[in-house]
Amino acid sequence: MSAPATTNPSYSNVAAGLSAVRARIAAAAARAARPPDSVRLVAVSKTHPAEAVLAALAAQQTRFGENRVQEAAAKFPALRASHPALRLHLIGALQTNKARDAVRLADVIEVLDRPRLADAIADAIQKEGRTPDLLVQVNVGDEAQKAGIATAEADGFIAACQARFGAALTGLMCIPPAEGDPGPHFAWLAACAARHGLATLSMGMSADFEAAIVHGATHVRVGTAIFGHRA
Ligand SMILES: *Cc1c(COP(=O)(O)O)cnc(C)c1O
Repeated sequence: MSAPATTNPSYSNVAAGLSAVRARIAAAAARAARPPDSVRLVAVSKTHPAEAVLAALAAQQTRFGENRVQEAAAKFPALRASHPALRLHLIGALQTNKARDAVRLADVIEVLDRPRLADAIADAIQKEGRTPDLLVQVNVGDEAQKAGIATAEADGFIAACQARFGAALTGLMCIPPAEGDPGPHFAWLAACAARHGLATLSMGMSADFEAAIVHGATHVRVGTAIFGHRA
């Protein structure tokens, strides 16, 4: 047996990291004249062990993000069994052959970004009898190396996904270019969501979540500022 998670010295800073991030979220929401509970924190636990997630759970964090289906499958089913309020967001690029595992494991799949993946997810939903919330990921900077539907194709793809998935298609997600001001990209995503009547906007990471909140983020995905640097 390993020692209880909250006594693991390497994750003793998680509660403090969470409080600091929560305070920054509340301050950014206040600056934008938004209620603090209009922004949900997704704690990105990728590469960190279950002990880190347990430390966050002990500090009342229930919503987590993971990039890889295999890592999520190794870490989360046991945590979920002991913490029924836990919600798992899948936020990393998804291969079609992992769609079924993703639908079984995740409460929110944030990375729907191409027609073939929509096919695979629709098939998996039918086979698993379980429907996670779905977000369309938009490649807001139209960067060659990045996942996400191209901005020019976004409206058509989003409309097709709404027709296919109905209310399960709840919103949009983006990762703006690393360089430059992310503000215009956040504004673009917010306008796109509004055009389609979508309420959920997953945008903002450790480096830029306050700007994302000003532009209407409903979910911010924060890893490093909570759990420290990844190996
Ligand atoms: C890793 C990751 C995050 C968290 O990034 P930090 O800079 O550590 O906060 C957020 N979103 C996605 C899609 C990620 O891959």
